[in-house]
Amino acid sequence: MNWALFGASTIASQHMINAIRAQSGAEIRWIVSGTSERAASYAQTHRIPFSATDLADPLSDNAVGAVYVSSTNEKHFDQAMAAISAGKHVLCEKPLAMDAGDALEMVRSADAAGVTFGTNHHLRCSGSHQAIRDVINSGKIGRVLSLRIFHAVQLPDNLRGWRINDPKAGGGVIPDITVHDADVTRFLLGEDPQTVVAQAAASGMGEGVEDSAMSVWSMPSGAMVFSHESFTHPFAGSGLEVHGSEGSIFAKGIMTQQPVGAIELVTATGREDVPFELHNLYEFSVGRFCDAIAGMGEPAATGLDGVKSLLVAEAVSKAAQSGTRQAPYYGLIA
Ligand code: NDP
Repeated sequence: MNWALFGASTIASQHMINAIRAQSGAEIRWIVSGTSERAASYAQTHRIPFSATDLADPLSDNAVGAVYVSSTNEKHFDQAMAAISAGKHVLCEKPLAMDAGDALEMVRSADAAGVTFGTNHHLRCSGSHQAIRDVINSGKIGRVLSLRIFHAVQLPDNLRGWRINDPKAGGGVIPDITVHDADVTRFLLGEDPQTVVAQAAASGMGEGVEDSAMSVWSMPSGAMVFSHESFTHPFAGSGLEVHGSEGSIFAKGIMTQQPVGAIELVTATGREDVPFELHNLYEFSVGRFCDAIAGMGEPAATGLDGVKSLLVAEAVSKAAQSGTRQAPYYGLIA
């Protein structure tokens, strides 16, 4: 499979270029950037043979089968739609688009064109999250009563551009991190948040966008979810806890891009460490996407998973702005 990258991004250079190249027979042929100088220099740095500013160049290359979209959020829709129209498979970064309506149009267009479409929600690709889900599904903690997600981090200096000062590019912690936490919740509990209440703040980094959010979600099963995201917490650490009627799971350091962290299960019989696979999250995501193209299963996170995580994030944003309880608008998908 030959790939084109849309977006000369940090996530591609730090993780996804290697993850794509780790797949058997995969090559990256094109990089598309907003400027020809940046495209050329990114191509040289990453040994990519062709660079362009015009999507038409890679999209008219019949050797290209798949496109990875990791530009700023406001570009995802146009870039993904162009790739779909050209008959290319698309793995798109989260949030899929600036609003869930556009995201759904991308997913439906891919279905109509018969191409594979995936969302790059990496956390459900980690061995830690998969092990936690296995423990929940085993019944060891009984009925799930609550889930608490701690995802307040210190945004690294090199990522403090559009994320903290450009709402038109999709900046803000809710589109950036709350979407991930919505996906984690849906993945672990196997159900979709019904209603949310929320507060958001600019606590030292956000300029015109929120850099911190806390929200509480009601699940159809009756479980409650607490979700905390921030760009401004250098020492908070990340993790999640799942509390059930028969036991609790404590997972530390697992809301991350690396296969790290620790999971502990506590029940009436005592405490035990929960082992998990230490595979590369992004290689897993790309591997499942390639398998789906080959007719074996679905991407790790489908397009609809990306639409639903965005619907939850939109509800959190509306709840924080209005001070009222909001319901993610799943009617959009029906
Ligand atoms: P970056 O800010 O690194 O890149 C986004 C765009 O900004 C690039 O496509 C590029 O535009 C431009 N850009 C980046 N660096 C420079 C520079 N030094 N000089 C000039 N322009 C620059 O964003 P991220 O990689 O952090 O995020 C990209 C997308 O990936 C977002 O949608 C984000 O939400 C998602 N993401 C997903 C993660 C995951 O784990 N799933 C993790 C991190 C991000 P151009 O292409 O025009 O050159």
